[in-house]
Formats: sequence, C-alpha cells, structure tokens
Amino acid sequence: MVQTKRVLAIYTGGTFGMLKNEKGVLVPQKDIEKVIRRLPQLHDNEYWTQSLSKSDKKEYLAIPDGKDTDLKVLYKIYEYEELKDSSDFTTDDWLRMARDIKKFYHDYDGFVVLHGTDTTAYGASVLSFMLESVGKTVVLTGAQVPIFQPRSDGLNNFLCSILIAATQHIPEVTVFFGCKLFRGTRVKKVSNTRIYAFDSPNYPPLLEAKVSLEVDPKMLIHPPGSVPDECRLHDKLSTKVYVLKVAPTITPELIRAVLKGMDGVVLETYGNGNIPIKRKEIYKEIERAVKNNVLVVNVTQCINGTVLGKPFYETGLLLLECGVVPAFDMTAEAALAKLSYVLTKTELSYAQKVEVQT
Ligand code: ASP
Repeated sequence: MVQTKRVLAIYTGGTFGMLKNEKGVLVPQKDIEKVIRRLPQLHDNEYWTQSLSKSDKKEYLAIPDGKDTDLKVLYKIYEYEELKDSSDFTTDDWLRMARDIKKFYHDYDGFVVLHGTDTTAYGASVLSFMLESVGKTVVLTGAQVPIFQPRSDGLNNFLCSILIAATQHIPEVTVFFGCKLFRGTRVKKVSNTRIYAFDSPNYPPLLEAKVSLEVDPKMLIHPPGSVPDECRLHDKLSTKVYVLKVAPTITPELIRAVLKGMDGVVLETYGNGNIPIKRKEIYKEIERAVKNNVLVVNVTQCINGTVLGKPFYETGLLLLECGVVPAFDMTAEAALAKLSYVLTKTELSYAQKVEVQT
C-alpha cells in the first residue's frame, strides 16, 4: 500500500527563480512550476500522468522515488503574485508566510518556503518565534545559482527540503542549504559565493544530507510526539526595532539618532559584549534609552561566541549595569526577530519582556 505525503512549497522569490533582465541583473521570474515540471529529479511525469487523480493533477507535482519505497511525495507550488528579492522583504512579508502556513496547516504534511538567501536568517528567526507551536516540519530554502542554470544548487536544496518536510517530523522552523539542515533561529548567511551559504556557528546542524536524510531526534527542541499537531500563531511583529553595530567611530549622536522612536535595539558589541567606556556619553546615551523602556539587548559581533550575564571586562560591565540584556549566544538576526515578537506581547510588562528576551 503506497502512502502519500503532501507538502506545500511557498515560492516567494529569491535567486532560486531568477533570470537576468535587460540591465543584466537578476530578478525573480513567474511561473516557476513550468520550469520545475521539466526537471526529472523534481517531477515524476510518468507517475503523475498514470497514477494521480484528476483533482490531484491540478494541484500537485510528484517527487520521483527510487521504485523501492512505499511512500509517494506530492507537492504543490504556491507562488506569490509579487515575487521579491528577499532584500525587499519587510515584516509584512513574513507575516504573510506565517499566516499562510497557519491557513493551510491541516491540508499538508509539511511546508517548504523558497526564500531569497539575503534575509533567510531574519525570516527563519521571525517565523520561528511567530509560529509559537507548530506540529509539522517547516523548511526554508533557496539557491545561490538559479534553477534555470545547469549548475544550480537549487535543485538539490529544493528536493531535500521537500523530502525532509514530507518524511521527517521536525516540529520547528528550519533552513536547508548546501547539505545541512539548521535550526531557524541559529543560521547566518556566511557566503554569497559558496554553495554552502549558511552556517549555524553556535549550534550543530540538525541533519546532514548523507546517504540517508534522517534527523537525530536528540537534536530537536521538542522530542517527537511531544508537540500537539497544531499551529499556534502570534501574528504581530514590531517594526520599531533595529540593529546597531558598535564601531570605533560611534558617537552619542549616532546612538541617539538610531534609538529615537525605537522600542527595542540589538547592540552588536565587540568580543564578549564590550563597548568603548572612556567616552562616557556613549553608555550614558544607552542608559538613558533603557531608562525610557527601550529594550536593548547585547549580542557579540563575533561569528561564534556568547555575551554572558557575568561580563569578563569593565567594558562590558557598564552595559549590564545600565540594564542592557545579554543575549548569550543568539545571532543578531535572531535577537532582532525575538525583540520584534516580544515587544508586541501587550500582556507582558517591560520587566517580563526583559526576562523573556534573555
Ligand atoms: N538577493 C537574493 C535574495 O535574497 C539572493 C538569493 O536569493 O540568494 O533574494
């Protein structure tokens, strides 16, 4: 008896489906399904023609199998009307993706989002927080080389993502790229040329695509079976949040200008969470903002490492004394996403938001 799994693949844009325009630069293309349908690794036309019902034919493409499995994976491509380079994404775009996952939650066994790589780390983090509880696998993926080109990495990224979403029970938001599956809140784009565009410097990959594509359940936040099959969505995000990177030329005026009107700021500091302290106006400016209930969190600029609750240096101690929240080993992208989420929790007091943010 053949078992069928169904995956929804939301196509939002990104290099995966881009071609050069008349100015010689890449822009997203519509009707990606037509291209995918012609790729035998992504669509089993023979099976589709012979075995799918009329209604399934309208909706789905079929992943080819090795003829030795009793599982058939079907997927539907849901293409957004306005396709974007993900550099153009705002919180509204991720709200839409999250709402769509919620809307179609019970119709599919898993979800894939084709997303431009530039902001995947933000998108995956934001979706991870907004989807407070999700009982199915959600995978974001994309490509460094468009699917139209023979050397596209998009084919393997997309194929593995669909198979993971269909067959692996990973009830959280993840990113598949290269040959690894990462936790959504842990990824960083680390290269714009390598096929391995992402890394997860403070957490091991959840899965590595080897001969098999199986996740080690010990890697998951929630052990299999412990998450209800539901999609609980917090569908609000604050836009009054930003990332401020500390650099030697930073001035109090600059800090004031960035913090003005913000409800939360991620401060990307040196090393263990340090800032210049000889120029007192710098931390005084941050202290003033915290006193005005701006939630300021401290992440390190280092690719790998932690900002602890117990600073090593005098240059880190003052921030803690000002009420800046150490973000431990979070990426700046995840810390920003968490601020954006936490700050819309109207039921929480400032002190509770500070507690949740750590
Ligand atoms: N600029 C592209 C985007 O983020 C890059 C990519 O998809 O790789 O949409």
